[in-house]
Amino acid sequence: QNSSDSSQEYTSDVFAMDTYMTLTAYGENAQEAVEAGIAEIQRLDDLLSTGKDTSEVAQINANGGGVLSEDTDYLVKRALDIYQSTNGAFDISIYPVMQLWGFTTGNFAVPSESDLAAKLALVDAGKIILSEENGQTSISLPEGMEIDLGGIAKGYTSGRVMDVMKSYGIKSAVINLGGNAHVLGNKTDGSQWKVGIQDPEDENGYLGGVSVTDKAIITSGGYERYFVDKDTGVKYHHIIDPKTGYSANNGLISVTIVSADSTLADGLSTSLFVLGTEDAITYCEEHCAEDGFDAIMEDEDGKLYITDGIYDDFINMNNNKNIEK
Ligand code: ADP
Repeated sequence: QNSSDSSQEYTSDVFAMDTYMTLTAYGENAQEAVEAGIAEIQRLDDLLSTGKDTSEVAQINANGGGVLSEDTDYLVKRALDIYQSTNGAFDISIYPVMQLWGFTTGNFAVPSESDLAAKLALVDAGKIILSEENGQTSISLPEGMEIDLGGIAKGYTSGRVMDVMKSYGIKSAVINLGGNAHVLGNKTDGSQWKVGIQDPEDENGYLGGVSVTDKAIITSGGYERYFVDKDTGVKYHHIIDPKTGYSANNGLISVTIVSADSTLADGLSTSLFVLGTEDAITYCEEHCAEDGFDAIMEDEDGKLYITDGIYDDFINMNNNKNIEK
């Protein structure tokens, strides 16, 4: 009875958005908060999953447009902002190309040049038309275009889950949505959360970690979802360069974004991976401070790039000396 509120801990798992998710909350109402968080994940999964025929996004794709719900409206606009600021590296209209490669079904195949060119011709988020009427947004897609919010949905979802948890009075929580981490507040002992970042070349290792408070820590890498072509041995992964239609291969093997804005963090982890080493560094120089994010990126030579804002909070687990600010 004298146990302090913060000693209460509740954890639960859920499979949603094609991945395993774990939610842990501390304090009074921890269980209710986690359960409400899971309900929110399921609500957004039903709304945003391109693969679910009944989802709002699937309906938009089937009908070439429609009226957007509040969540989808917000997400599409954030996605289009990132499309603009990354010169098209982030493009939610990449879906027909994802399908062609089999990333949506698991029936992987390297497409012919002509099939790829035909699908790539449908990709250009700049052609998405949004119109506002009576406080509602409608979306209209050109013939053949289909959208996929997979590059940004989990970041948005973790932010929503944290909002739900906060509404239950929770001040300390950590969630992991299939490698996308998000922490609320600090640990119950008042110290910062320490979040490990997966080593892209070793499933069981870490490339390092970060000490954080109230942040999303979201990583994109070519090691997450991929297949190997039996004939050539070439590895193809699920982050597509909209310029080529092929798996992005521009020098980076892992990009982690740390930000209080989890939607931005998710969109940018994919974007900077596509942009590649040089352009990603330039993007960080121009946007990190103003937009409120930091980046930890590893290139194919094992060199780590860490932006100023997170440099002192990086935990160098491997005694890595090849680090550049
Ligand atoms: P994961 O969702 O596996 O954690 P990411 O956050 O990096 O990984 O997002 C990859 C997903 O983003 C793909 O599964 C696909 O749905 C989508 N995607 C792939 N390439 C792009 C791109 N260039 N722009 C926007 N979305 C993309």
